Amino acid sequence: MQSKDLLQLAEQFGSPLYVYDAEKIKSQYNRLTKAFSKVEKLRINYAMKALSNVAILELLRDMGSGLDTVSIQEVLLGLHAGYSPEKIFYTPNGVSLEEIEEVNAMGVQINIDNLSILEQFGAKHPNVPVCIRINPHVMAGGNTNISVGHIDSKFGISIHQLPHLVRIVENTKMNIVGIHMHTGSDILDIEVFLYAAEILFDAARNFKNLEFLDFGSGFKVPYKKDDIETDIEELGKKLSKRFNAFCTEYGKELTLIFEPGKFLVSEAGQFLVKVNVIKQTTSTVFAGIDSGFNHLIRPMLYGSQHHIENISNPKGKERFYSVVGYICETDTFANNRRIPEIKEGDILSFRNAGAYCYSMASNYNSRYKPAEVLWLEGQGHLIRAHETFEDLIKNQISLPLPAKV
Ligand SMILES: *Cc1c(COP(=O)(O)O)cnc(C)c1O
Repeated sequence: MQSKDLLQLAEQFGSPLYVYDAEKIKSQYNRLTKAFSKVEKLRINYAMKALSNVAILELLRDMGSGLDTVSIQEVLLGLHAGYSPEKIFYTPNGVSLEEIEEVNAMGVQINIDNLSILEQFGAKHPNVPVCIRINPHVMAGGNTNISVGHIDSKFGISIHQLPHLVRIVENTKMNIVGIHMHTGSDILDIEVFLYAAEILFDAARNFKNLEFLDFGSGFKVPYKKDDIETDIEELGKKLSKRFNAFCTEYGKELTLIFEPGKFLVSEAGQFLVKVNVIKQTTSTVFAGIDSGFNHLIRPMLYGSQHHIENISNPKGKERFYSVVGYICETDTFANNRRIPEIKEGDILSFRNAGAYCYSMASNYNSRYKPAEVLWLEGQGHLIRAHETFEDLIKNQISLPLPAKV
């Protein structure tokens, strides 16, 4: 996708606009399967919470991907996008027993992440194949909000509770077919990941009927120049070897599962916005855009730095800008960032806008959510229309108020 294509799309569909490059999603998917080609049974479940547009789900389904879901609504979307139930995994956190039972009845693989629900579910449904989520307490995350491995984390069953877990499984005679971990986003260090894998193998030795081991995700992708990214090829080499050795020891060819979100879709996305106003204060030049944290919350929520390009003037002289949104509270995308000279009306592109951008968008300030476009074989296809006023009021109910006296 070149700047002239993006400018044309912004012109055709209006701004703000999310654009996703199908080729990039495919090449990331292929990169991952190639890195693990030495593993006989490999399965990739796309973590759809990153970007849940149905057209994206269909694209990944077509490539052979499964789905990783965290809510019953995501399961319904996956089924709607044509995934068979066997291709869907359900790895929620803190949901009700009723929701787990409902998803199980749809034929989807369930994953339980706490001892209370495990015991209740096992007692009621001892024959259902269940996966359990272990927390190996390995710190892999960069940001405390997305790091889920620490000792007081709400995610997974602590590895220190393994004796209690084994007791519940023995008492209920439930059928454990898989073990799962997801140490959180941003794996910087492959050795740390391999260390966590050893903890998973140790846990796996306690169960005799396993069919798969699910290593979650957390692959890091570069957001700005000089960012480190997870070396997938190196991880593939080392983990494949270790996994295959474990299968030999276990006496069975297990399936290795990953559930990447960010890795598959982050870099494929760009968010196009228009500059409404340039405003100079005593110390700062603000570029005010026609969007805000209602459409892209990661910078305000996580302090994420999305690279910003001025695609209307890519060769312009660089100046310092603070890029801010139109929401009526502090809404900053970039502080004093060097960007080629910006004029009112220019189109800016935020990079890495594929993962956790549209899917976290809201209607705050009663703004419409943006449209989404998929760039496929040299053409832009609208995959979600801009919202309209109807969308804002469709579930709202006016009341007849008591008569004034
Ligand atoms: C969010 C999530 C993922 C995906 O994480 P990424 O960092 O986007 O790859 C995978 N597994 C589970 C259980 C998740 O909650």
